[in-house]
Amino acid sequence: MDVSKPDNFKVSLDVIEKTMTGAGPSNYHPRIRQAMSLPVLGHLHTETLKIMDDLKEGIKYLFQTRNSLTFCVSGPGHAALECALTNLIEENDVILIVCSGIWGTRAGNIAKRLNANVKMLYKHVGEQVSLKETRECFRMYKPKIFFMVHGESSTGMIQNNIEDYGNLCREFDCLFIVDCVITLGCTPLFVDKWKIDIAYTGTQKVLNAPPGISPITFSQRAYDKIVMRKSLVKSYNYDAILLGEYWNCFPLRPRIYHHTICSSLLYGLREAIAIFIENGGLEASWEKHGKVTRKFHSILEKNGLQLFIENAENRCPSVTSIKVPDNIDTHKIISYAMNKYKVEIGNGVGMTLGKIFRIGLMGVNCKDELAERVANILIEAIRAIENEKVVSKI
Ligand SMILES: *Cc1c(COP(=O)(O)O)cnc(C)c1O
Repeated sequence: MDVSKPDNFKVSLDVIEKTMTGAGPSNYHPRIRQAMSLPVLGHLHTETLKIMDDLKEGIKYLFQTRNSLTFCVSGPGHAALECALTNLIEENDVILIVCSGIWGTRAGNIAKRLNANVKMLYKHVGEQVSLKETRECFRMYKPKIFFMVHGESSTGMIQNNIEDYGNLCREFDCLFIVDCVITLGCTPLFVDKWKIDIAYTGTQKVLNAPPGISPITFSQRAYDKIVMRKSLVKSYNYDAILLGEYWNCFPLRPRIYHHTICSSLLYGLREAIAIFIENGGLEASWEKHGKVTRKFHSILEKNGLQLFIENAENRCPSVTSIKVPDNIDTHKIISYAMNKYKVEIGNGVGMTLGKIFRIGLMGVNCKDELAERVANILIEAIRAIENEKVVSKI
């Protein structure tokens, strides 16, 4: 053999259970784990197609949309982001992207690869954009596509008044893409009512489902732009029309083999949506996330910690960002919580790395006891690390 058998595999696989309270993935509900261990099915078996049909109905409910072009992209949230941009962008199309954290930056990166004419509307990290300045950019650049993140999980900020931007896009005949990866299920979102043309989400955040299968929906306007393209969509894997055919979004066309979908992920997501609905659905989940997060914030503030997003209305209910106290090394705090309690505390990411902690209380992890526990562990960890420094100075 040119390359010999690696020894690594002689040691059996061992995975420990952690409390997944970073910015995602969140813990699975035990039923989701069970569902994912069901037998494998083929990508065109009748039973698989039925599950996909169920999922489409579930996703339409979650997005509050009647769009027929609604399905899942095989791949994580990034794949759905890439799918949205790849289908809409044709060379030199002007796209306006609001950027106040890494998701705006990533969207800009992908749009550039697609040779779009990219205009970035930069805000300070954690700061909302205003309708007035956005309108000015619309006047100046006449974008064909507008991209906005509903919840910037890199900063913990939620953008309010999405519907105003939906109206603005209609006024300027522009298509509206919204990243709802961290917000779907934890706070109101109405794709049709808010005139969103493409919304996508991830499964491993509020839904507690496995990552790798990402819901996305396209409005009639988005569909029209795709079918009017002069050039082919630059990606076969993410071509929304081909995916829509596979997902039976066009009942008159035959279902085609596009790729081998992972049946275990379909089971996991189906079970996740079933649990979500059993627990009272959207309204119950919005209320729970709001209530638990407010409680979590008040415990942190009572203990002298400061939230990164100052205005309470602009705080995302699924991910809380907390300012790192002066001269504290975030890695030490994170290791302390992980080593001692197997509890995940997230670091900042991109521009917020080392400046904030990010804690996600999502879906099954969104409950008072866990909010208290994680807050206490964070507070304990900060005290322990501060004491360590005092001791080392002596
Ligand atoms: C997590 C996240 C993504 C990316 O999802 P992946 O599954 O990691 O690719 C995109 N946008 C937001 C707002 C997120 O929180």
